[in-house]
Amino acid sequence: MANTIKICDLLERLSTLFRNEVRQAGLSHGLHPVHLEVLFYLNRCNLFSDTPAAVKDFLGATKGTTSQSITLLENKGYLTKTKDTQDKRVYHLSLTDAGRKIADQTMPPPSLRQALDRCSNDENSTLEQQLEALLIDIQMETRNVSFGLCKTCIYHAPKNQTLFLCQLTQKELPRKFGELICREHQLKVINNNGT
Ligand code: SF4
Repeated sequence: MANTIKICDLLERLSTLFRNEVRQAGLSHGLHPVHLEVLFYLNRCNLFSDTPAAVKDFLGATKGTTSQSITLLENKGYLTKTKDTQDKRVYHLSLTDAGRKIADQTMPPPSLRQALDRCSNDENSTLEQQLEALLIDIQMETRNVSFGLCKTCIYHAPKNQTLFLCQLTQKELPRKFGELICREHQLKVINNNGT
């Protein structure tokens, strides 16, 4: 409890440095932070989460802001829209090679990448676990548990070395999709014994 303010200060300072670096990187491409956020999200989300509505919910932005950002990125050639094959009212967003290049170059920011490169694998692994546990705890506390990493979802059922079954959609998907963000994500409740 006594460390709460110190930890809060550190997280706040880190996030400010993080945002400033991302903002600077965006300016060199004529993009505002919200535009970069859209690129980062689309670079990390799965096929159930690539719609404008999902982008809006992930960013916590208004429909108007999200729509303007998507139009600007489309006009700059950083993303494309494709109509859903089942529901013509819905369309999916995907990054072009140019959009993906910006997202890959700017996220993670170089300073964070270099700092983590200087740490050992064990240190990085410990940091990841602690941050993940903190995030899950806060998501559960605030009942804001969507947009999690697919492989941590209650519906994620590995089948073999290359595939898993999404038990929600009953689709078989490549194992590497487990590393993507999904708006349908439901958190697995982990007991103290780790099961
Ligand atoms: S397993 Fe969960 S997170 Fe993964 S695709 Fe299915 S619903 Fe989304």
